[in-house]
Amino acid sequence: MLDLKQIRKQFPILSRKVNGHDLVYFDNGATTQKPDSVIAAESNYYQNENSNVHRGVHFLSGLATDKFEETRITIQNFINAKHSHEIIFTKGTTDSINIVASGYRSLLNKGDEIIISELEHHSNIVPWQMCCEQSGATLKVIPLLDNGTLDMAEFGNLLSKNTKLVSIAHISNTLGTINPIEKIIEKAKAVGAKVLIDGAQAASHISINMQSLDADFYCFSAHKLYGPTGVGILYGKEDVLNELPAYQGGGEMIKEVSFKKTTYAGLPHKFEAGTPNIAGVVAFKAAINFITGLGINNIAKHEEELLKYATEEVLKIEGLRIYGTAKNKSAIISFNINELHPYDIGMIVDKMGIAVRTGHHCTQPIMDKFNIPGTARISLAVYNTKDEIDICIKAIKKAKIMLS
Ligand code: PMP
Repeated sequence: MLDLKQIRKQFPILSRKVNGHDLVYFDNGATTQKPDSVIAAESNYYQNENSNVHRGVHFLSGLATDKFEETRITIQNFINAKHSHEIIFTKGTTDSINIVASGYRSLLNKGDEIIISELEHHSNIVPWQMCCEQSGATLKVIPLLDNGTLDMAEFGNLLSKNTKLVSIAHISNTLGTINPIEKIIEKAKAVGAKVLIDGAQAASHISINMQSLDADFYCFSAHKLYGPTGVGILYGKEDVLNELPAYQGGGEMIKEVSFKKTTYAGLPHKFEAGTPNIAGVVAFKAAINFITGLGINNIAKHEEELLKYATEEVLKIEGLRIYGTAKNKSAIISFNINELHPYDIGMIVDKMGIAVRTGHHCTQPIMDKFNIPGTARISLAVYNTKDEIDICIKAIKKAKIMLS
Protein backbone atom coordinates (compact mmCIF):
# COMPACT_ATOMS: atom_id res chain seq x y z
CA MET A 1 0.00 0.00 0.00
CA LEU A 2 1.33 3.44 -0.93
CA ASP A 3 1.29 6.19 1.68
CA LEU A 4 -0.46 8.88 -0.37
CA LYS A 5 -0.07 11.58 2.28
CA GLN A 6 3.65 10.99 2.39
CA ILE A 7 3.89 10.94 -1.42
CA ARG A 8 1.90 14.16 -1.82
CA LYS A 9 4.08 15.92 0.74
CA GLN A 10 7.03 15.46 -1.60
CA PHE A 11 5.37 17.58 -4.32
CA PRO A 12 5.42 21.23 -3.22
CA ILE A 13 3.15 22.40 -6.05
CA LEU A 14 0.31 20.15 -4.87
CA SER A 15 -0.28 22.35 -1.85
CA ARG A 16 -0.76 25.54 -3.84
CA LYS A 17 -4.11 27.18 -4.53
CA VAL A 18 -5.49 27.78 -8.00
CA ASN A 19 -8.31 30.29 -8.37
CA GLY A 20 -8.82 30.16 -4.61
CA HIS A 21 -9.18 26.37 -4.49
CA ASP A 22 -6.85 23.50 -3.63
CA LEU A 23 -5.16 22.44 -6.86
CA VAL A 24 -6.44 19.18 -8.35
CA TYR A 25 -3.88 18.29 -10.99
CA PHE A 26 -5.35 15.89 -13.55
CA ASP A 27 -3.16 16.81 -16.53
CA ASN A 28 -0.40 14.29 -15.93
CA GLY A 29 -0.52 13.00 -19.51
CA ALA A 30 0.83 16.38 -20.59
CA THR A 31 3.44 16.54 -17.84
CA THR A 32 3.72 15.35 -14.24
CA GLN A 33 4.63 17.47 -11.24
CA LYS A 34 8.10 17.17 -9.71
CA PRO A 35 9.04 15.88 -6.26
CA ASP A 36 11.47 17.73 -3.95
CA SER A 37 14.23 15.25 -4.79
CA VAL A 38 14.14 16.15 -8.50
CA ILE A 39 14.00 19.90 -7.83
CA ALA A 40 16.88 19.56 -5.35
CA ALA A 41 19.00 17.49 -7.75
CA GLU A 42 18.69 20.11 -10.48
CA SER A 43 19.38 22.98 -8.09
CA ASN A 44 22.27 21.17 -6.37
CA TYR A 45 23.85 20.48 -9.74
CA TYR A 46 24.03 24.19 -10.52
CA GLN A 47 25.06 25.12 -6.99
CA ASN A 48 27.79 22.54 -6.48
CA GLU A 49 28.57 20.45 -9.52
CA ASN A 50 28.19 22.53 -12.68
CA SER A 51 30.71 21.97 -15.45
CA ASN A 52 30.68 20.62 -19.00
CA VAL A 53 30.77 16.85 -19.41
CA HIS A 54 33.26 14.54 -21.14
CA ARG A 55 35.73 17.33 -21.89
CA GLY A 56 37.87 18.51 -19.03
CA VAL A 57 40.49 16.97 -16.83
CA HIS A 58 39.55 19.22 -13.91
CA PHE A 59 37.64 18.10 -10.84
CA LEU A 60 34.21 19.57 -11.64
CA SER A 61 34.21 18.29 -15.19
CA GLY A 62 34.92 14.81 -13.87
CA LEU A 63 32.17 15.14 -11.27
CA ALA A 64 29.60 16.37 -13.80
CA THR A 65 30.56 13.55 -16.16
CA ASP A 66 30.20 10.95 -13.40
CA LYS A 67 26.76 12.29 -12.44
CA PHE A 68 25.68 12.39 -16.08
CA GLU A 69 26.82 8.83 -16.70
CA GLU A 70 25.25 7.59 -13.44
CA THR A 71 21.85 8.49 -14.87
CA ARG A 72 22.58 6.41 -17.96
CA ILE A 73 23.24 3.37 -15.75
CA THR A 74 20.13 4.11 -13.66
CA ILE A 75 18.02 4.14 -16.83
CA GLN A 76 19.71 1.03 -18.14
CA ASN A 77 18.64 -0.76 -14.96
CA PHE A 78 15.18 0.83 -14.99
CA ILE A 79 14.38 -0.58 -18.43
CA ASN A 80 16.68 -3.59 -18.21
CA ALA A 81 18.71 -2.72 -21.30
CA LYS A 82 21.65 -4.98 -22.06
CA HIS A 83 24.21 -2.15 -22.35
CA SER A 84 24.35 1.38 -20.95
CA HIS A 85 25.56 2.70 -24.33
CA GLU A 86 22.19 1.67 -25.76
CA ILE A 87 20.70 4.64 -23.86
CA ILE A 88 20.97 7.92 -25.81
CA PHE A 89 20.08 11.15 -24.04
CA THR A 90 17.74 13.30 -26.11
CA LYS A 91 15.48 16.33 -25.62
CA GLY A 92 12.49 14.03 -25.17
CA THR A 93 10.27 11.57 -27.01
CA THR A 94 9.76 13.85 -30.03
CA ASP A 95 13.50 14.27 -30.42
CA SER A 96 14.08 10.53 -30.00
CA ILE A 97 11.60 9.62 -32.75
CA ASN A 98 13.09 12.27 -35.03
CA ILE A 99 16.57 10.81 -34.57
CA VAL A 100 15.34 7.45 -35.84
CA ALA A 101 13.07 8.83 -38.58
CA SER A 102 15.81 11.11 -39.81
CA GLY A 103 18.26 8.18 -39.99
CA TYR A 104 15.75 6.06 -41.87
CA ARG A 105 15.52 8.66 -44.65
CA SER A 106 18.74 7.30 -46.03
CA LEU A 107 18.07 3.65 -45.09
CA LEU A 108 14.75 3.39 -47.00
CA ASN A 109 13.92 3.36 -50.69
CA LYS A 110 10.86 3.50 -52.91
CA GLY A 111 8.79 0.37 -52.32
CA ASP A 112 9.69 0.17 -48.63
CA GLU A 113 6.91 0.62 -46.11
CA ILE A 114 6.54 2.03 -42.59
CA ILE A 115 3.54 1.13 -40.43
CA ILE A 116 2.14 3.39 -37.71
CA SER A 117 -1.38 3.49 -36.25
CA GLU A 118 -4.38 5.79 -36.17
CA LEU A 119 -3.92 6.47 -32.43
CA GLU A 120 -0.42 7.93 -32.60
CA HIS A 121 0.64 11.26 -31.14
CA HIS A 122 1.61 13.72 -33.89
CA SER A 123 5.23 13.19 -32.90
CA ASN A 124 4.92 9.58 -34.04
CA ILE A 125 3.20 10.58 -37.31
CA VAL A 126 4.86 13.67 -38.75
CA PRO A 127 8.51 12.47 -38.56
CA TRP A 128 7.49 9.38 -40.55
CA GLN A 129 5.63 11.46 -43.12
CA MET A 130 8.79 13.53 -43.55
CA CYS A 131 10.87 10.36 -43.75
CA CYS A 132 8.59 8.93 -46.46
CA GLU A 133 8.59 12.20 -48.44
CA GLN A 134 12.36 12.16 -48.61
CA SER A 135 13.00 8.44 -49.02
CA GLY A 136 10.11 7.54 -51.33
CA ALA A 137 8.84 4.96 -48.82
CA THR A 138 5.10 4.54 -48.14
CA LEU A 139 3.34 5.14 -44.81
CA LYS A 140 0.62 2.65 -43.83
CA VAL A 141 -1.77 3.11 -40.92
CA ILE A 142 -3.36 0.48 -38.64
CA PRO A 143 -6.98 1.59 -38.17
CA LEU A 144 -8.67 2.03 -34.81
CA LEU A 145 -11.72 0.09 -33.68
CA ASP A 146 -14.59 1.91 -31.97
CA ASN A 147 -13.41 0.94 -28.48
CA GLY A 148 -10.05 2.61 -29.08
CA THR A 149 -8.02 -0.55 -29.68
CA LEU A 150 -6.00 -1.29 -32.80
CA ASP A 151 -7.45 -3.46 -35.55
CA MET A 152 -4.92 -6.26 -35.20
CA ALA A 153 -6.38 -8.25 -38.11
CA GLU A 154 -5.77 -5.27 -40.37
CA PHE A 155 -2.25 -4.96 -38.97
CA GLY A 156 -1.66 -8.53 -40.14
CA ASN A 157 -2.89 -7.55 -43.61
CA LEU A 158 -0.63 -4.49 -43.79
CA LEU A 159 2.51 -6.41 -42.90
CA SER A 160 4.62 -7.69 -45.78
CA LYS A 161 8.23 -8.21 -46.76
CA ASN A 162 8.21 -4.52 -47.75
CA THR A 163 7.59 -3.46 -44.14
CA LYS A 164 10.86 -2.05 -42.86
CA LEU A 165 9.70 -0.38 -39.68
CA VAL A 166 6.68 -0.42 -37.35
CA SER A 167 6.33 2.54 -34.96
CA ILE A 168 3.61 2.32 -32.32
CA ALA A 169 2.70 3.95 -29.02
CA HIS A 170 2.89 1.71 -25.98
CA ILE A 171 -0.04 3.65 -24.46
CA SER A 172 -2.32 6.15 -26.21
CA ASN A 173 -2.15 9.60 -24.61
CA THR A 174 -5.75 10.29 -25.65
CA LEU A 175 -7.57 6.98 -25.25
CA GLY A 176 -5.45 5.31 -22.56
CA THR A 177 -5.32 2.11 -24.62
CA ILE A 178 -2.39 -0.13 -23.70
CA ASN A 179 -1.42 -1.59 -27.06
CA PRO A 180 -0.48 -5.28 -27.35
CA ILE A 181 3.10 -4.38 -28.18
CA GLU A 182 4.48 -7.86 -27.48
CA LYS A 183 2.22 -9.23 -30.22
CA ILE A 184 2.98 -6.30 -32.53
CA ILE A 185 6.73 -6.81 -32.10
CA GLU A 186 6.43 -10.55 -32.69
CA LYS A 187 4.43 -10.07 -35.92
CA ALA A 188 6.72 -7.30 -37.18
CA LYS A 189 9.81 -9.42 -36.51
CA ALA A 190 8.28 -12.28 -38.47
CA VAL A 191 8.54 -10.16 -41.65
CA GLY A 192 11.96 -8.76 -40.71
CA ALA A 193 10.80 -5.26 -39.75
CA LYS A 194 12.34 -3.15 -37.03
CA VAL A 195 10.08 -1.81 -34.25
CA LEU A 196 10.02 1.51 -32.42
CA ILE A 197 7.82 1.85 -29.33
CA ASP A 198 6.79 5.33 -28.21
CA GLY A 199 6.74 4.85 -24.45
CA ALA A 200 5.98 8.49 -23.54
CA GLN A 201 2.81 7.50 -21.68
CA ALA A 202 4.05 4.17 -20.38
CA ALA A 203 7.35 4.56 -18.57
CA SER A 204 5.92 6.07 -15.37
CA HIS A 205 2.92 3.75 -15.23
CA ILE A 206 3.93 0.19 -16.07
CA SER A 207 7.05 -1.90 -15.91
CA ILE A 208 9.14 -2.04 -19.09
CA ASN A 209 11.87 -4.53 -19.84
CA MET A 210 13.93 -4.15 -22.99
CA GLN A 211 15.46 -7.59 -22.91
CA SER A 212 12.16 -9.42 -22.72
CA LEU A 213 10.36 -6.97 -25.06
CA ASP A 214 12.74 -7.23 -28.03
CA ALA A 215 11.85 -3.77 -29.42
CA ASP A 216 14.61 -2.23 -31.54
CA PHE A 217 13.89 1.27 -30.25
CA TYR A 218 12.01 2.57 -27.22
CA CYS A 219 11.70 6.18 -26.10
CA PHE A 220 10.25 8.36 -23.38
CA SER A 221 10.51 11.84 -21.85
CA ALA A 222 11.65 12.59 -18.30
CA HIS A 223 8.98 15.24 -17.75
CA LYS A 224 6.11 12.74 -17.91
CA LEU A 225 7.92 10.67 -15.34
CA TYR A 226 8.27 13.20 -12.47
CA GLY A 227 11.51 14.49 -14.01
CA PRO A 228 12.55 17.77 -15.68
CA THR A 229 11.49 19.04 -19.10
CA GLY A 230 13.82 19.05 -22.09
CA VAL A 231 15.34 15.63 -21.54
CA GLY A 232 14.45 12.08 -22.48
CA ILE A 233 15.94 8.93 -23.88
CA LEU A 234 16.16 6.89 -27.01
CA TYR A 235 16.92 3.26 -26.31
CA GLY A 236 18.18 1.30 -29.27
CA LYS A 237 19.69 -2.14 -29.63
CA GLU A 238 23.44 -1.86 -30.05
CA ASP A 239 23.60 -3.30 -33.57
CA VAL A 240 20.57 -1.31 -34.74
CA LEU A 241 22.00 1.97 -33.41
CA ASN A 242 25.31 1.19 -35.05
CA GLU A 243 23.53 0.88 -38.41
CA LEU A 244 21.52 4.08 -37.92
CA PRO A 245 23.15 7.15 -39.52
CA ALA A 246 24.23 9.94 -37.14
CA TYR A 247 21.63 12.65 -36.57
CA GLN A 248 23.25 16.00 -35.75
CA GLY A 249 26.90 16.76 -36.41
CA GLY A 250 29.07 18.69 -33.98
CA GLY A 251 31.20 18.35 -30.91
CA GLU A 252 31.08 15.18 -28.80
CA MET A 253 29.80 12.91 -31.61
CA ILE A 254 33.10 12.64 -33.49
CA LYS A 255 36.19 10.50 -33.31
CA GLU A 256 38.37 12.66 -35.58
CA VAL A 257 37.64 15.74 -37.66
CA SER A 258 39.58 16.88 -40.70
CA PHE A 259 38.58 18.58 -43.95
CA LYS A 260 39.36 15.37 -45.75
CA LYS A 261 37.24 13.04 -43.67
CA THR A 262 35.46 13.07 -40.33
CA THR A 263 34.85 9.87 -38.41
CA TYR A 264 32.16 9.45 -35.79
CA ALA A 265 32.32 8.41 -32.15
CA GLY A 266 30.87 5.11 -31.02
CA LEU A 267 27.70 4.68 -28.97
CA PRO A 268 26.20 6.52 -27.21
CA HIS A 269 28.13 9.68 -28.18
CA LYS A 270 27.45 9.27 -31.92
CA PHE A 271 23.92 10.55 -31.22
CA GLU A 272 24.76 13.14 -28.55
CA ALA A 273 26.17 16.12 -30.46
CA GLY A 274 26.76 19.32 -28.51
CA THR A 275 26.46 20.15 -24.83
CA PRO A 276 23.49 18.20 -23.48
CA ASN A 277 20.96 19.19 -20.81
CA ILE A 278 23.32 18.08 -18.04
CA ALA A 279 21.29 19.38 -15.10
CA GLY A 280 18.19 17.73 -16.57
CA VAL A 281 19.97 14.42 -17.00
CA VAL A 282 21.27 14.56 -13.41
CA ALA A 283 17.77 15.27 -12.08
CA PHE A 284 16.33 12.53 -14.34
CA LYS A 285 18.08 10.03 -12.06
CA ALA A 286 16.23 11.40 -9.03
CA ALA A 287 12.95 10.96 -10.92
CA ILE A 288 13.71 7.33 -11.73
CA ASN A 289 14.71 6.77 -8.09
CA PHE A 290 11.40 8.27 -7.00
CA ILE A 291 9.55 5.71 -9.12
CA THR A 292 11.66 2.72 -8.16
CA GLY A 293 11.46 3.77 -4.50
CA LEU A 294 7.68 3.44 -4.63
CA GLY A 295 7.78 0.41 -6.90
CA ILE A 296 6.35 0.61 -10.41
CA ASN A 297 3.93 -2.24 -9.69
CA ASN A 298 2.56 -0.40 -6.63
CA ILE A 299 2.13 2.69 -8.78
CA ALA A 300 0.33 0.67 -11.46
CA LYS A 301 -2.00 -0.88 -8.88
CA HIS A 302 -2.89 2.48 -7.33
CA GLU A 303 -3.55 4.06 -10.72
CA GLU A 304 -5.65 1.09 -11.78
CA GLU A 305 -7.87 1.58 -8.72
CA LEU A 306 -8.16 5.29 -9.45
CA LEU A 307 -9.07 4.58 -13.08
CA LYS A 308 -11.77 2.10 -12.07
CA TYR A 309 -13.26 4.51 -9.54
CA ALA A 310 -13.08 7.55 -11.82
CA THR A 311 -14.60 5.63 -14.74
CA GLU A 312 -17.55 4.43 -12.64
CA GLU A 313 -18.14 7.91 -11.27
CA VAL A 314 -17.93 9.87 -14.54
CA LEU A 315 -20.25 7.40 -16.23
CA LYS A 316 -22.95 8.39 -13.71
CA ILE A 317 -23.05 11.79 -15.42
CA GLU A 318 -25.88 11.64 -17.94
CA GLY A 319 -24.85 12.26 -21.53
CA LEU A 320 -21.17 11.65 -20.85
CA ARG A 321 -19.29 9.49 -23.35
CA ILE A 322 -15.83 8.08 -22.78
CA TYR A 323 -13.56 7.71 -25.83
CA GLY A 324 -11.33 4.70 -25.32
CA THR A 325 -12.90 1.77 -23.53
CA ALA A 326 -10.23 -0.87 -24.03
CA LYS A 327 -10.04 -3.58 -21.39
CA ASN A 328 -6.33 -3.01 -21.04
CA LYS A 329 -6.19 0.68 -20.24
CA SER A 330 -4.01 3.22 -18.46
CA ALA A 331 -5.40 5.92 -16.13
CA ILE A 332 -6.56 8.29 -18.86
CA ILE A 333 -10.21 9.25 -19.40
CA SER A 334 -11.15 11.27 -22.48
CA PHE A 335 -14.77 12.35 -22.55
CA ASN A 336 -17.42 14.65 -23.94
CA ILE A 337 -20.85 15.50 -22.54
CA ASN A 338 -23.67 15.73 -25.09
CA GLU A 339 -22.89 18.59 -27.47
CA LEU A 340 -20.99 20.67 -24.89
CA HIS A 341 -17.64 21.96 -26.06
CA PRO A 342 -14.79 20.34 -24.07
CA TYR A 343 -13.02 23.71 -23.91
CA ASP A 344 -15.95 25.21 -21.97
CA ILE A 345 -15.90 22.29 -19.50
CA GLY A 346 -12.14 22.75 -19.02
CA MET A 347 -12.53 26.50 -18.44
CA ILE A 348 -15.23 26.07 -15.80
CA VAL A 349 -13.51 23.33 -13.82
CA ASP A 350 -10.31 25.39 -13.92
CA LYS A 351 -12.17 28.12 -12.02
CA MET A 352 -12.59 25.47 -9.30
CA GLY A 353 -8.86 24.70 -9.24
CA ILE A 354 -8.99 21.58 -11.42
CA ALA A 355 -6.50 21.08 -14.24
CA VAL A 356 -7.79 18.88 -17.06
CA ARG A 357 -6.67 19.07 -20.68
CA THR A 358 -9.02 19.91 -23.52
CA GLY A 359 -8.53 19.73 -27.28
CA HIS A 360 -7.18 17.18 -29.73
CA HIS A 361 -4.20 16.20 -27.51
CA CYS A 362 -1.88 16.17 -30.57
CA THR A 363 -3.89 13.27 -31.99
CA GLN A 364 -6.04 14.84 -34.71
CA PRO A 365 -6.56 11.52 -36.55
CA ILE A 366 -8.30 10.14 -33.43
CA MET A 367 -10.59 13.18 -33.41
CA ASP A 368 -11.37 12.58 -37.10
CA LYS A 369 -12.09 8.92 -36.40
CA PHE A 370 -14.69 9.85 -33.75
CA ASN A 371 -15.81 12.92 -35.69
CA ILE A 372 -15.28 15.32 -32.78
CA PRO A 373 -13.25 18.52 -32.43
CA GLY A 374 -11.71 17.45 -29.14
CA THR A 375 -12.28 15.92 -25.74
CA ALA A 376 -11.77 16.80 -22.10
CA ARG A 377 -9.09 14.54 -20.65
CA ILE A 378 -8.41 13.43 -17.10
CA SER A 379 -4.98 11.80 -16.79
CA LEU A 380 -3.90 10.51 -13.40
CA ALA A 381 -0.61 9.98 -11.61
CA VAL A 382 0.59 8.30 -8.45
CA TYR A 383 -0.13 11.30 -6.18
CA ASN A 384 -3.80 11.56 -7.17
CA THR A 385 -6.54 10.46 -4.80
CA LYS A 386 -10.18 9.34 -4.79
CA ASP A 387 -11.06 12.56 -2.95
CA GLU A 388 -9.68 14.55 -5.85
CA ILE A 389 -11.78 12.48 -8.25
CA ASP A 390 -14.89 13.31 -6.17
CA ILE A 391 -14.04 17.02 -6.33
CA CYS A 392 -13.53 16.79 -10.09
CA ILE A 393 -16.82 14.93 -10.69
CA LYS A 394 -18.70 17.54 -8.68
CA ALA A 395 -17.10 20.30 -10.74
CA ILE A 396 -17.93 18.57 -14.04
CA LYS A 397 -21.55 18.21 -12.94
CA LYS A 398 -21.62 21.93 -12.08
CA ALA A 399 -20.10 22.77 -15.48
CA LYS A 400 -22.73 20.66 -17.20
CA ILE A 401 -25.55 22.51 -15.44
CA MET A 402 -24.01 25.90 -16.23
CA LEU A 403 -23.52 25.08 -19.90
CA SER A 404 -26.81 23.26 -20.60
N1 PMP B 1 4.09 10.40 -27.67
C1 PMP B 1 3.08 10.39 -26.80
C2 PMP B 1 2.19 9.19 -26.71
C3 PMP B 1 2.88 11.49 -25.97
O1 PMP B 1 1.88 11.49 -25.10
C4 PMP B 1 3.73 12.61 -26.09
C5 PMP B 1 3.55 13.85 -25.22
N2 PMP B 1 2.22 14.24 -25.06
C6 PMP B 1 4.78 12.54 -27.00
C7 PMP B 1 4.92 11.42 -27.78
C8 PMP B 1 5.75 13.67 -27.17
O2 PMP B 1 6.50 13.84 -26.02
P1 PMP B 1 7.43 15.13 -25.81
O3 PMP B 1 6.52 16.31 -26.05
O4 PMP B 1 7.86 15.04 -24.40
O5 PMP B 1 8.51 15.06 -26.79
